[in-house]
Amino acid sequence: MAIDVSKIIHAVMEGSKIRESKGIIPLFGVYLSLFSVYYYNRLSFDFEIKMGPQREAEAKALLIEAAQECGYATFHGIRDSWEWEQVVTPMVESKEDQILGFVAVAVAFGWGDLAIVGLDPGEKLVMHASDSYEARGYLEQYGLATSEKCYMLRGVAAAFMDLVYGADYPDGCFTFAAQEPRCRAKGDSYCEFVARRSSG
Ligand SMILES: [Zn+2]
Repeated sequence: MAIDVSKIIHAVMEGSKIRESKGIIPLFGVYLSLFSVYYYNRLSFDFEIKMGPQREAEAKALLIEAAQECGYATFHGIRDSWEWEQVVTPMVESKEDQILGFVAVAVAFGWGDLAIVGLDPGEKLVMHASDSYEARGYLEQYGLATSEKCYMLRGVAAAFMDLVYGADYPDGCFTFAAQEPRCRAKGDSYCEFVARRSSG
């Protein structure tokens, strides 16, 4: 059976109606919350700006690393959950299907209109987003960028590969590293994330 993306999105949307008293959404084995994209983008991009031009590369690396670790732990929890077992596992026939499942959950979480355009098993993932909230937010708040800006999705793309082709959790994080050769924030028509095995 192929992965039914709409079924996964529907399960997340239904499940996310349940809130704890503090607004926390316990879903797919992890704790989620509604979060302002504007606020998240300000934290992220202002951190980069405050670090200054000399430490820009360091700031960018930290943001991507944080996203990758977060994506790795979060999607490990999701894959281990009761909901995943009930909804997604029956549709998974291969390792690659797991990545399709991850992407469907990420889309349902509102992380972007992600689409897998290339997957070389064990080696390379190519993912596109035509409306990344980071790119849109950057353009709205700071204007056209001189470099790519979607640090969250970049880390997450590599985390998906880490979970499927890296060593067992928790040792597989950073087996892969992702680049973003195209980004709407710098004027491209879509964002492109390419995850490959880390060289280091
Ligand atoms: Zn981008």
